Amino acid sequence: MAVKHELEDVEGVGPATIEKLKIAGVLSVEALAVTPTRTLVEIADLTEEKASSITRNARSLLNIRFTTAKDVLSKRQNIGYITTGSKAIDSLLGKGIESQALTELIGEFGSGKTQICHQLCVGVQLPLEKGGLGGRALFIDTEGTFRPERVIAIAQGLGLNPDEVLGNIIYARAFNSDHQMLLADEAFSLVSQNNVRLVIVDSVITHFRSEYPGREALAPRQQKLNRHIHQLLRMADIYNLAVILTNQIQSTPDTFFGNPNKPAGGNVLAHGSTYRIWLRKSKESRRVAKIIDSPLHPESEGIFAITTNGIIDVDDVKH
Ligand code: ADP
Ligand code: MG
Repeated sequence: MAVKHELEDVEGVGPATIEKLKIAGVLSVEALAVTPTRTLVEIADLTEEKASSITRNARSLLNIRFTTAKDVLSKRQNIGYITTGSKAIDSLLGKGIESQALTELIGEFGSGKTQICHQLCVGVQLPLEKGGLGGRALFIDTEGTFRPERVIAIAQGLGLNPDEVLGNIIYARAFNSDHQMLLADEAFSLVSQNNVRLVIVDSVITHFRSEYPGREALAPRQQKLNRHIHQLLRMADIYNLAVILTNQIQSTPDTFFGNPNKPAGGNVLAHGSTYRIWLRKSKESRRVAKIIDSPLHPESEGIFAITTNGIIDVDDVKH
């Protein structure tokens, strides 16, 4: 087994720096090794030179260097999948929501984003053979729409003990974008110690949109959002967990051709997300999920239904 290194083992990292790193949520050598130098300068009050030497030392301690495609493949073989409850959605991505990836759920109000998030909080707890990862969920709620009652109904539908299921969902309400980023920092320490295999931010964009209105605010907003997304990506990668972000639709009235609606968050989200799933309403409880922008999967659609006991396939709806 590989030796586990601690922050104090990294050359050039003293107790004062460790303290600051920990406050910022950088709790392990792994996290330090992938924190951008510029971020380190900011969070630990270091000179550019010192920060980059610390990053180098952390990387060499972990032996981070070029690997072969074979190693990439073997890491990909550790990817796990979480079922959404609907085979139609699962099959869009192969076998469900992937770990080591960031999956974005995009859709207008009522399209089912938050319902799928609830479903996945339960799904991740299922054992491997039932489509879960036998792990916990961590939920960052920016809109105040998380409902334990929905979790209970979904757990009952799957024949699980609702009390146990609720206990395995770590929850925080984010009150503004700074708070949201702080919670993501704190999540870094929580996920490694609590067998968290799914991190949800529902929605990732609400606070950013309302706090940074107008064109002048776009650049600082996008920079900040970029830092947030990349931190979540690092978490997915280091801890082999799935990240789900929900995103809103933005209408662009100046579009003459094609769809005037597009996902909010611009290029930062478009480039940050590994997979993007667009949800839209259909008749009654029916919803359509469409995968857009996947490095691996063709564009395709699936239909699912939202029921009291959660997300299911349309064929399974009782009439
Ligand atoms: P959003 O995309 O805005 O997050 P939601 O995930 O909150 O949308 O989906 C809201 C929809 O979910 C509602 O319009 C309703 O149709 C459905 N829904 C919510 N609760 C239940 C329930 N207990 N039983 C059946 N459908 C529900
Ligand atoms: Mg919602």
